[in-house]
Amino acid sequence: MKGLKFSAASQAAQALGWIDPVTKAVVPPIHMASTYQRDEDNAYSSGRVYARADNPTFDQAEATLAALEGGAKALIFSSGMSAASACFLALAPGDHVVVPKVMYWALRNWLATFATHWGLEVDFVDAEINDALAAAVQPGRTKLVWLETPANPTWGVSDIAAAAEIAHKAGALLGVDSTVATPVLTRPLEFGADIVMHSATKYLNGHSDIIAGALVTAREDAYWTRLRTIRAQLGTILGQTEAWLLMRGMRTLFPRVQWACRSAQSMAERFADHPMVADVLYPGLPSFAGHAVAARQMKGGFGGMLSIRVKGGERAAIATAARVELWKRATSLGGVESLIEHRASIEGPGTPCPPDLLRLSVGVEDGNDLYDDLDQALRRAHNA
Ligand SMILES: *Cc1c(COP(=O)(O)O)cnc(C)c1O
Repeated sequence: MKGLKFSAASQAAQALGWIDPVTKAVVPPIHMASTYQRDEDNAYSSGRVYARADNPTFDQAEATLAALEGGAKALIFSSGMSAASACFLALAPGDHVVVPKVMYWALRNWLATFATHWGLEVDFVDAEINDALAAAVQPGRTKLVWLETPANPTWGVSDIAAAAEIAHKAGALLGVDSTVATPVLTRPLEFGADIVMHSATKYLNGHSDIIAGALVTAREDAYWTRLRTIRAQLGTILGQTEAWLLMRGMRTLFPRVQWACRSAQSMAERFADHPMVADVLYPGLPSFAGHAVAARQMKGGFGGMLSIRVKGGERAAIATAARVELWKRATSLGGVESLIEHRASIEGPGTPCPPDLLRLSVGVEDGNDLYDDLDQALRRAHNA
């Protein structure tokens, strides 16, 4: 696709327009090789040595994601967790980091346990409040500020541009977990972020059939070299078949996300007036606290994730989830099939998640079917 003059949606659909130079295939092969032959003069002219560092099957997914995010380079990882943890392991013991209080629970746990034992000083702050971020950074000591926006599972919105200014003034980098927004809706690097992280398990792949992660950088600097080295040394690479599936999934990223946004917006508006729903958490509702920032930062929709708080508390919420027929009761998000989850049950003790909350990942089914199914489940649970 010469000069990348087409829109991001067109670039994604055609994986940058790649055609195999020899066979003219429109889809790349899967390279299974774990090692590469040296030249007679002892050099590695292909640039490939051993597949713990990289694999040609990664190239297309990494180039496409870098283009979609407007970044210099991308790296795909074995999981979202290995991509996110690499961002912290690329720092040094004694460094200070500022991270959100409300964020993906497994990363929060890792930061509170492993990362802290390893020697990072971790401050958990309310990252929706710029003054809280500004008060937490320590100029010269803070090396990384981390955001997740919208943030699991209450979808609070952080102001990326304001956080970038705060981080950079203190000499720190800004990393953004943009799993939920996807490059369809938000490109964090345009707002000043240095690193974008994705659980590619979710929307990028979109079909609930691989675990994968990704990082995209604004520039190729020493920090990026450390991230690449960490992946090669720990071997937190994606398998080659999974990398191929990820690229296959990313080709439909735009229509999937746009469809899910439309259904989620309409569902949020309808559940806001539902007699068995106490509250709807969705950045697309004008009454939502983070709506104004989301409207600035998210283009073309507010995402496919929302949560409802069920009247009658935890028991009513679990009873509702038990009575859906179309929604699937499962953890995870961003797949073509819609998922419902009583989130506090999986996050366990100490979770900031309210016990009456059901997390909804809206897929690509008919939006009216999804509303009707959850509506009947809420009514039957209420009458049970
Ligand atoms: C799922 C998820 C992760 C973790 O990714 P894995 O691919 O499961 O390791 C991190 N952040 C967010 C927002 C997620 O939804």
